[in-house]
Amino acid sequence: MSSSDYKFEGWLGLDPSAAQGKMQWGEYEPKPWEETDVDIKITHCGICGSDLHTLRSGWGPTNYPCCVGHEIVGTVVRVGSKAEGGLKVGDRVGVGAQSDSCLGRKGGDCEACASGMENYCQKLHVGTYNGVYLNGGKSYGGYALYHRAPSHFVVKIPDALSSAEAAPMLCGGVTTYTPLKHHGVGPGKTVGIIGLGGLGHFGVMWAKALKADKVVVISRTSAKKEDALKMGADDFIATGEEADWAKKHASTLDVIVCTVSSSSMPLMQYLSLLRFDGTFVQVGAPEDGLPTIQQFPLIFKRLNITGSVIGSPSDIREMLQLAVDQKVKPWIEEIPMKDANRAIMDMDAGKPRYRYVLYNEKPGVSRL
Ligand code: NAP
Ligand code: ZN
Ligand code: ZN
Repeated sequence: MSSSDYKFEGWLGLDPSAAQGKMQWGEYEPKPWEETDVDIKITHCGICGSDLHTLRSGWGPTNYPCCVGHEIVGTVVRVGSKAEGGLKVGDRVGVGAQSDSCLGRKGGDCEACASGMENYCQKLHVGTYNGVYLNGGKSYGGYALYHRAPSHFVVKIPDALSSAEAAPMLCGGVTTYTPLKHHGVGPGKTVGIIGLGGLGHFGVMWAKALKADKVVVISRTSAKKEDALKMGADDFIATGEEADWAKKHASTLDVIVCTVSSSSMPLMQYLSLLRFDGTFVQVGAPEDGLPTIQQFPLIFKRLNITGSVIGSPSDIREMLQLAVDQKVKPWIEEIPMKDANRAIMDMDAGKPRYRYVLYNEKPGVSRL
């Protein structure tokens, strides 16, 4: 298949109203081809909370037109002569939220990339959408028929995982996997996951797969309690329904991963759940910042407050293998690509249980 056999078409946000279900289907110009690139015929793309923040310019002005979606799985249809990883036409592959870094670039090789942490590249972190590559091309995401990506950020999907299951792991999955791993979650550790959404539900399952002693879900209501326990959680706190929840569970957790993206979250109460020397990892990204932090709990418990961004391609490969080995199955709902506008509105309303995955029924044919 030559590059002229397919067009790049997808759901485009044209202004902030796109986040209210007003994306429009249209054609766009992918990044100018480089021999390190691959083209992918998209079969599946998960819907991440970041897609909504970006569509509505919540983190700053978005570079419209913007096609979001960075949990992409599909089939390789074109491979550059300098592509990495032995990729071949026909391979089933995925792309997460990052699709370029300074690695291998002239003047590149920052400390982070040099140590295999491309996700922390301090020189060139190109997002899979709403980004600009070094060659000037824009990045367009996966609510689309085709995707072009630098091969370094394209990973093969293990045969044991279905494409629909693998897709949400590529951002939602790895974003919770990497902090759990980095902060030593395993036997002997108690873990809290705040917010049982797309990211949070992965957090619970990874913490169990990593053999944490105890995993506690901290959610606003008890509506998701039964699901959380089925995912493997050992305990559940409904902050909106239990008086004194923070006192009752004070100083019980070693590591917390917080997926909440609201500036009005009860942050100090969340922090009180940590033991002395405990670690709070913020991964949710509120559009208007975090609540104020009082100093004394930090001082007297030597608490660590930190953040974490997605994962490197090697983190993604490692996580996919953990999913295979430990039979981790995401809770997904599959939605046809044509219904993407409805899906993002339902996502905004908190309806997914627990991740929506868009699919192209007959890849290569417009759904309209
Ligand atoms: P999601 O599926 O909507 O999950 C977010 C969860 O947060 C909800 O399910 C809800 O859980 C909880 N929540 C929502 N509003 C809340 C509020 N006002 N107070 C307390 N809890 C609230 O979204 P997601 O896809 O998991 O993404 C979550 C956040 O992570 C987004 O901001 C996204 O941009 C960010 N993100 C960051 C990275 C990174 O690398 N750091 C990567 C991907 C995504 P309950 O119903 O259980 O309360
Ligand atoms: Zn994401
Ligand atoms: Zn770098």
